Amino acid sequence: MSETIEGERPSFPMRGVPQPTREEVLHLPRVHISTHPVMQHKMTALRDKNTPPPAFYRLVKEIGALLAYEATANLRLEPETIETPLQPMTGQRLAGGIGITPILRAGLGLAEGFREVISEAQVWHLGLRRDERTLQALEYYNRLPHQIDLQVAYAVDPMLATGGSAIDAINVLKRRGIPRLSYVCILAAPYGLLKLSQAHPDIDIYIAALDESLNDLGYILPGLGDAGDRQFGTF
Ligand code: URA
Repeated sequence: MSETIEGERPSFPMRGVPQPTREEVLHLPRVHISTHPVMQHKMTALRDKNTPPPAFYRLVKEIGALLAYEATANLRLEPETIETPLQPMTGQRLAGGIGITPILRAGLGLAEGFREVISEAQVWHLGLRRDERTLQALEYYNRLPHQIDLQVAYAVDPMLATGGSAIDAINVLKRRGIPRLSYVCILAAPYGLLKLSQAHPDIDIYIAALDESLNDLGYILPGLGDAGDRQFGTF
């Protein structure tokens, strides 16, 4: 059980909290875990504690581009008639807009990687901060547009740990009436993955790697540390 005196917030919020195993969540519906060898190669460099912030940020962007490639594989298309230099033809273009919602601030690098793949995507920033003691997600910034005409929006955040901010972010986007939502992260812990999948069984979840567990503080193990600090050098 967590060390909580009545009325006091827990300082080790995950201590004693039962967690599912990796095997128990491996085959959840709508969860897509990358098996790409280039992804695994980049993940090893990302996790390495000796990787400095500039290289770490570059890797987050590259992994974001690979995740975008996987997460956009089932987008809808519509025909478009064009003329090549030689003759008319009917090509295909993406039907409807694409939205990317980076969860501030750790989601910024991932969103940049997505934009390398879909440069015309709209980017809407959403600020959710984790209360380090209770692990509850608090919304402090919301720059979502009022008019929305999208086929899909991707909420992006590198770490799916306890699932609190992921669930909140999808709640915020659902209230905007976007027809299709996906959640994209680099690392997931079984605990947060199960929570998100149970809270929002109607969304797709794309992950570069599924880790083992959360420590008492709610950090992913083996993990990569604090994804925001490692991108921006704020140790
Ligand atoms: N957020 C991080 O940046 N790292 C973790 O391990 C968990 C949450």
